Amino acid sequence: MNKHAALVTGASSGIGVDIARELAGRGMNVILVARRRERLESLAAELEAMGVKALALDCDLADRQQLNGLMQRAAEWLDAEAMVLTVLVNNAGTGVWDWFANQTREISQRDIDLNVTALTTLCHDFVAMAKAHGKPAHILNIASLAAMLPTPRFVVYSATKAYVQRFSEILDYELRQTNISVTCSCPGGVLTEFMQHAGQELKGDTGMMASADVARLAVQAMFAGQVVHVPGMLNKLSTLVRFLPRPLKIRLVEKSMLVTVQDK
Ligand code: NAP
Repeated sequence: MNKHAALVTGASSGIGVDIARELAGRGMNVILVARRRERLESLAAELEAMGVKALALDCDLADRQQLNGLMQRAAEWLDAEAMVLTVLVNNAGTGVWDWFANQTREISQRDIDLNVTALTTLCHDFVAMAKAHGKPAHILNIASLAAMLPTPRFVVYSATKAYVQRFSEILDYELRQTNISVTCSCPGGVLTEFMQHAGQELKGDTGMMASADVARLAVQAMFAGQVVHVPGMLNKLSTLVRFLPRPLKIRLVEKSMLVTVQDK
């Protein structure tokens, strides 16, 4: 059996489920992290039927105490199975679609705790583990096109994803003398539960990507050592908007969001 394992956050839904399937399909053992335990257990059973080992770890990553204890819980299982953690996928992320003035401090803080603090903490823990075992290791951080394109009504979300992109680019550079790579994937719209949780109401046919395609491309980019990756031709083209003057850029991003999502 392959003695390498991956830890995937947000593995109870959407892109995280498909990333876990993709990694298991490549023979990796997987540690599945999210809050909804039953969903993790059912995915773990599905992955074990593919011939790998899978562990369901329920954890609220926006809770500092639970976050701080997560890698220890993972390490106990890894030691018992004589495995090493060689892949970390920071995929769990949330956002709220509304004007900043309508949002509470608590909601903004929750998104920052998950999208920024949890991701950074897990990278700290993972880099220490990877340096200790010395095997080639990979970090995949899921950002968003909103990292590159300032997105009205998604102000905190867009800013946290800009953090994820910048953090990943610099961390990859800082780790260039090690055998740890860092990849940041920046998807555009993906059909998952994300919009429902964000309070976004979609208008008709959206032309969004399937999460299985986004997951496959992100995992490929990670193993290829690509630092920033944008899945899909249309998304790649839309990143060119970032070179426009700021007022025009923000207006254009706002208009393009309102093609697929109801206004607030
Ligand atoms: P999703 O279907 O809503 O999945 C989000 C995952 O995050 C779930 O597994 C959820 O599990 C987990 N999660 C949320 N809060 C958590 C918490 N406090 N602690 C632990 N886990 C938590 O959304 P998705 O589209 O797959 O999103 C995955 C990533 O892709 C996110 O980072 C998102 O920003 C990014 N992204 C999505 C889109 C899109 O259009 N869908 C576009 C660009 C980027 P539990 O609820 O069970 O905890």
